[in-house]
Amino acid sequence: MDPLKRLLKLIKDNDVEEIDFRFTDMDGKLNHMTYDVAIIDTDIMTEGLKIDGSSFRGWKAINESDMTLMPDPTTAQMDPFLSVSTLTILCNVFEPVTGERYNRDPRGIAEKAETYLRTTGIADKVNVGAEPEFFVFDDVKYQADPYNTGFKLDSAELRINGDKSYEGGNLGHRIQTEAGYMSTPPQDSGQEMRSEMSAHIRSMGVTVEKHHHEVAPAQHEISTNFNTLVRCADEMQIYKYCVRNVAELYGKTATFMPKPVIGVNGSGMHVHLSLWKGDKPIFAGDEYAGLSETCLFYIGGIFKHSKALCAFTNPSTNSYKRLVPGYEAPVSLAYSARNRSAACRIPSGSNPKEKRVEVRFPDPAANPYLAFAAIQMAGLDGILNKIDPGPAIDKDLYELPRCEKSKIPTVCGSLREAVESLDNDRAFLKAGGVFDDDLIDSYIKLKMEEITLLETTPHPVEFQMYYSA
Ligand code: GLN
Ligand code: MG
Ligand code: MG
Ligand code: MG
Repeated sequence: MDPLKRLLKLIKDNDVEEIDFRFTDMDGKLNHMTYDVAIIDTDIMTEGLKIDGSSFRGWKAINESDMTLMPDPTTAQMDPFLSVSTLTILCNVFEPVTGERYNRDPRGIAEKAETYLRTTGIADKVNVGAEPEFFVFDDVKYQADPYNTGFKLDSAELRINGDKSYEGGNLGHRIQTEAGYMSTPPQDSGQEMRSEMSAHIRSMGVTVEKHHHEVAPAQHEISTNFNTLVRCADEMQIYKYCVRNVAELYGKTATFMPKPVIGVNGSGMHVHLSLWKGDKPIFAGDEYAGLSETCLFYIGGIFKHSKALCAFTNPSTNSYKRLVPGYEAPVSLAYSARNRSAACRIPSGSNPKEKRVEVRFPDPAANPYLAFAAIQMAGLDGILNKIDPGPAIDKDLYELPRCEKSKIPTVCGSLREAVESLDNDRAFLKAGGVFDDDLIDSYIKLKMEEITLLETTPHPVEFQMYYSA
């Protein structure tokens, strides 16, 4: 159906009273503004709406602050949470004077990355699937113990936090509450909440494949189907919105912070990618693990540029507390079938249509539009320049002897390293005009603000270590 007709039908069928215009900023945050439904009778869909761009980190300066939001009617969905019948629409950002796409609109970058792929002639479609993980904590009392990381875990799973007195009574006869990977209820106290999150994500037009308890206590994962690059990034925004809002309804908070708890797994956002020419999966072939040479070059490109990529795929200072050995998050830049300590895993399966690369270092703090576009640009650079990723490594990379390990390059160890790497390795992102220097420089500036803030702030752990020393 024509997108605009579909939108008008949604308004009629649902007695819509308000329209909520949403867009993603440089931080990856979803923002919105709500209008009376009467706005649809104006030229809003062709002329867009004006906003003040100076209030968003990394966007316009105060003296040139106007921006135009252009609603994308293909993204219209009913909001499942608001009591007043509300239609949501994702928007693209444009320059008000020239009418051009704003070069710092993350969704625009993702669109350009898809267009660039077609112009290379390598493929006409990229399928992207992402698996964000998240923690759910009780929305209660800040705790004083710095090692307690600030928040209480979901109360049914509290014992991991060492607070055995919380429930009182005879804890020795209580059920084990330290839920882990794929635990069933009652240990998995998040089952119903995740089902509700999934139902709301589905109601907003996203296909949910499955959900389960993750490895760490109070950690969860919901997986959605793959889709085109832009659409998959849109879906990540819908996913986070629904997860956060259902947690809120349960009196809890959900966080996509990559490493909120010391000593247990952090939250990743593995990204699966495959290139297609018509119906032909061009990542399938006769090389290692049933991959094509093209796919190996794509991996080569990701490895070559991975340190710069980290600035987009692991964009927080906290991201680097996850990328340490022992927690199923990769450190070494190696690829392998099945090996979950490798930066790129080749999921098993003999069907050529399932051949894909799982990039395991990204985390859910990433702006999905920028992160997916950047990974894609690195992979394409690998194909265009025939970059050899080296041999596959099937051993446990965490346990390799030091002399072997030291030969394998690694992802970044800090956000500072990532930002410096991006500064020095940016040409691959600028191919086809997808990213530009203005965007990259402003992004680096944003990230440097975060780095400086953390580096100049006394940390709770420093009080623990040095206060009485
Ligand atoms: N949480 C792990 C990570 O940080 C992944 C664990 C898993 O998916 N089994 O990437
Ligand atoms: Mg998974
Ligand atoms: Mg997982
Ligand atoms: Mg995975």
